[in-house]
Amino acid sequence: MLRTYHLKILHESLHEKLSSHALESISNANIKQDAIRGQFGHDEYHFDNNAFNESYAYIEKNRAQIRPALEADNVEAAWAAFGRLTHTAQDFYAHSNYIRLWMVQFDGSAAPPVPEVAHAEPSFLEHPDLRSGKLYYPLELFSYIPALKKYILPLLPRDSHAWMNLDSPKQGPLFDYAHAAAVKRTNDEWKKTLATLPKKLHKLFHGR
Ligand SMILES: [Zn+2]
Repeated sequence: MLRTYHLKILHESLHEKLSSHALESISNANIKQDAIRGQFGHDEYHFDNNAFNESYAYIEKNRAQIRPALEADNVEAAWAAFGRLTHTAQDFYAHSNYIRLWMVQFDGSAAPPVPEVAHAEPSFLEHPDLRSGKLYYPLELFSYIPALKKYILPLLPRDSHAWMNLDSPKQGPLFDYAHAAAVKRTNDEWKKTLATLPKKLHKLFHGR
């Protein structure tokens, strides 16, 4: 997803739960994952190239860093780890075909309202046709340049990131579903993370 949407998703799901400083630190770590250094050789940051297991493992690796960081009174490290894991969790909906697979059941009938998107339906999370976009470098890079996109897209396979992504509203009406699903997922990640922490650390993690 583009950085604007990662930031919006975080704001929508967390701003009532956290101090503004906590949200800012989480947001900075989240969008840093899309810096050049995080784009190459890090499929697990973004659910790219069908790296499903690696991405799930990356989320849990970061979650596991949160409690020890809080116990060491390093709340910034805890927020950074949570920021990184939310980036990956949010990219799942933008880079996989989860939303498309989920929409197939409504073929021929009206699409459900966006807020009704089911973000964690096991039959779709474990769907045999679940895939995520492959990065065909270097061609993929040229597709990021707006003036070149229409020439490059036909040269790329349909299973490429360029064709499959729901990174921004420019990718069509499914983007709104990916966005809404990512908000719900971010809420889940927050609850799941709190559940790993003893009550006495909650206040510190909330930044209040
Ligand atoms: Zn990303």
